[in-house]
Amino acid sequence: MNEKIETSLITASTRGDYEQKTGAVNVPIYLSSTFDQEHFDSFGPYDYSRSGNPTRAALEKTIAELEGGTRGFAFSSGIAAIASAFMILKAGDHIVITSEVYGGTFRFVTQMLTKFGVEHTFADFTDLTAVEAAIRPNTKVLYVETPANPLLGITDIEGVVALAKAHGALTFLDNTFMTPLYQRPLDLGVDVVLHSATKFLGGHSDIIAGLAVTKNEELGDQIYFAQNSFGAILGAQDSFILIQGIKTLHARLTQSTASAKKIAAYLDGHELVEEVHFPGLKSHPGHAIHAKQATSAGAVLSFKLPNREITKAFVEHIQIPIFAVSLGGVESILSYPATMSHAAIPKEEREKRGITDGLLRFSVGLEHVDDLLADFEQAFAAAKELTVVGNK
Ligand SMILES: *Cc1c(COP(=O)(O)O)cnc(C)c1O
Repeated sequence: MNEKIETSLITASTRGDYEQKTGAVNVPIYLSSTFDQEHFDSFGPYDYSRSGNPTRAALEKTIAELEGGTRGFAFSSGIAAIASAFMILKAGDHIVITSEVYGGTFRFVTQMLTKFGVEHTFADFTDLTAVEAAIRPNTKVLYVETPANPLLGITDIEGVVALAKAHGALTFLDNTFMTPLYQRPLDLGVDVVLHSATKFLGGHSDIIAGLAVTKNEELGDQIYFAQNSFGAILGAQDSFILIQGIKTLHARLTQSTASAKKIAAYLDGHELVEEVHFPGLKSHPGHAIHAKQATSAGAVLSFKLPNREITKAFVEHIQIPIFAVSLGGVESILSYPATMSHAAIPKEEREKRGITDGLLRFSVGLEHVDDLLADFEQAFAAAKELTVVGNK
């Protein structure tokens, strides 16, 4: 297939069976738990919707094509996709996982996988020497997030893949922040790509969904077995909604990314802002590596204010963004990692990882960037006033 990804976003879901049957431009929602079998001793492609559903199959085919894989899998949440992928491991196996990891993944690895005898070591994945030092003879997976959450740390994907291959381990990568539009990890040798499709792929803050993609058939069979055995599949209606979201990914993300660049530059020059974390800034320690493996900096950034009081005042005065958990929606989303996405990480661990009480994460939506900048300006002015009053 030679067409560009912008085209595939539109055509992938309806190519093949679907349009040939009726000409419908959208995939039908097959609300059927079971499927009538014509023959006594040979079944059709679908028998029961946990094992396979035509609407979900259209979505799974779409994400596989977009990521350059062969098999796609849709789950009821991003965490369900991540947990199901880990189900291919067994007791006695070990994983090396990035310290800068989504809070729910941290919780699953530290409090669930350990119950089943799968051990883990956290490592700083911005440093390949640290990753290598954490590898053991029983290490089966190196788990990457890049850009990571919430400090946008960058991992050298090809570097980690080389380490994994040298030690007979697989590489899993959470590609939620980039989407296949900006970063295609399978092309760089990653084995399993994971998504919280709740975020940019869905794009409208309406559904919770997860995806996994593999290129290797045997690994695909293992993930399929985990999906069917664990049963955390995405329903047909949500599969439809996600397919529709994916169609507008390019238009949405291009717009949000352009605004994110302007906002990052603005924050970088603001007196109240101590740090800006955005891979598009030259000052970001992972800037060069990110530019090598992804085509854009994306639409998520984080920034650090001096303390909790100023942060609170800023959040109380900002008007346009919603103040909420999550990211990747058409609306800008301001979050407070310490009590939201990373609340599952104990305070001490969190601070070691740089998730302090002054850190805010911002996911840029589709509002006019000038309105967002004006809103930041008035909220900073109000927060600053408070510090001046407070100092008297
Ligand atoms: C949100 C998120 C997840 C978890 O996905 P859910 O859909 O909320 O289960 C995993 N990884 C990253 C990077 C996320 O942002």
